[in-house]
Amino acid sequence: MNILVLNAGSSSQKSCLYALKQNVLPSQPPEPLWEAQIDWTHQQGVAELKVKTTTGVVLKDELSSVSRVNLTLQMLETLWSRETQVLEKPQQIDIVGHRVVHGGEKFRSSTLVTPEVKAAIASLTELAPAHNPANLEGMEVVEQILGTELPQVAVFDTAFHTQMPLAAATYPGPYEWLNKGIRRYGFHGISHQYCAQQAAQLLGRELKHLRLITCHLGNGCSLAAIREGYSVDTTMGFTPLEGLMMGTRSGSVDPGILIHLMRQDNYTADELDQVLNKASGLKGISGISADMRQIMTALTEGNSRARLALEIYIHRLRSGIGAMLASLGGLDALIFTAGIGENSSDVRAAACESFEFLGLKLDPQKNIRSPEDRDIATANSKVRVLVIHTQEDWAIAQECWHLLHSN
Ligand code: ADP
Repeated sequence: MNILVLNAGSSSQKSCLYALKQNVLPSQPPEPLWEAQIDWTHQQGVAELKVKTTTGVVLKDELSSVSRVNLTLQMLETLWSRETQVLEKPQQIDIVGHRVVHGGEKFRSSTLVTPEVKAAIASLTELAPAHNPANLEGMEVVEQILGTELPQVAVFDTAFHTQMPLAAATYPGPYEWLNKGIRRYGFHGISHQYCAQQAAQLLGRELKHLRLITCHLGNGCSLAAIREGYSVDTTMGFTPLEGLMMGTRSGSVDPGILIHLMRQDNYTADELDQVLNKASGLKGISGISADMRQIMTALTEGNSRARLALEIYIHRLRSGIGAMLASLGGLDALIFTAGIGENSSDVRAAACESFEFLGLKLDPQKNIRSPEDRDIATANSKVRVLVIHTQEDWAIAQECWHLLHSN
């Protein structure tokens, strides 16, 4: 069974193909047979294509087209043509899964794509202007190649958080906000849910008996408080801007600052959007980079703004974990995932330090090795600490498999 996964970003389109033997879902994530990425941020009118296969073939190309649909089509063609070919023909694809960033209140779980579902995703564009249209384009490309009969599945980044208690999901503004759809949606849900499931497997315990905090620390950062397998609180909100400090995003700031900037400096909505989403966070404070590795390097060279950036990052992370802890009322495991969470032993150690009063003890030797899918707490720690390699694409592929087999 061949499952194609499409993960569309605002300036990139990632994709991979999983080939499952005898239709069986393996218990651990397999390597994709083919992986591709197309990036159109670097040069106007030129997109960079990178493709690799499990057999070790790597293809790099520059494509000139301004149409995202056409670029995605060219990317997918490398599945059945050129040196990266892994399929004889596109018809060998059995199902396609799409990561859809915003499912609003409507989509509480993954769903087969129908004309109605597409219309509903389009109607949510206002909430995710850079992402939802890109997802719809991906669905269109697949329809162009394989027709409307091939099953396509929408897997939502918001779905995991839709069961959050109303008190956690509602902003204390006027009540009418709720009717307008202004509420906490939360994001990174595919990753938080996947990590929770992996954690239960690793710990050999049932998800319904666990209280977990998952720390997804990549370019975007968010936390989730997970009780009995459900997200009961999360740091991202109406948009992915709320919560922790991130690579280029500020995370939560006093909304009064925005009013001040509008009144004093005549900031427009677009300027506020730009400053909060692109010129803040690690990049904004350090003035160096949004990349944690570069912050760490600058810090060891004595750069004081890099030090401040890291200190704010840790302060915010600890506060966020504290808030999630309060929502859970206890903790069985703290989980670190994504680029920073999986690789930065310094960030993990600093975050954990504040929670030693819980009896949480990190094993420094295990932590420094940044092992994948392992427990890095000491044997006598009262709280387990796990590093889990997030595999959103595989989580989407699993959703496809389940949907196909439940019908
Ligand atoms: P995205 O959210 O775009 O998927 P990633 O999950 O790849 O991002 O995370 C990107 C972040 O991970 C960057 O800040 C990068 O610096 C950080 N990162 C990757 N490797 C390391 C490392 N070895 N040490 C510290 N940070 C790392």
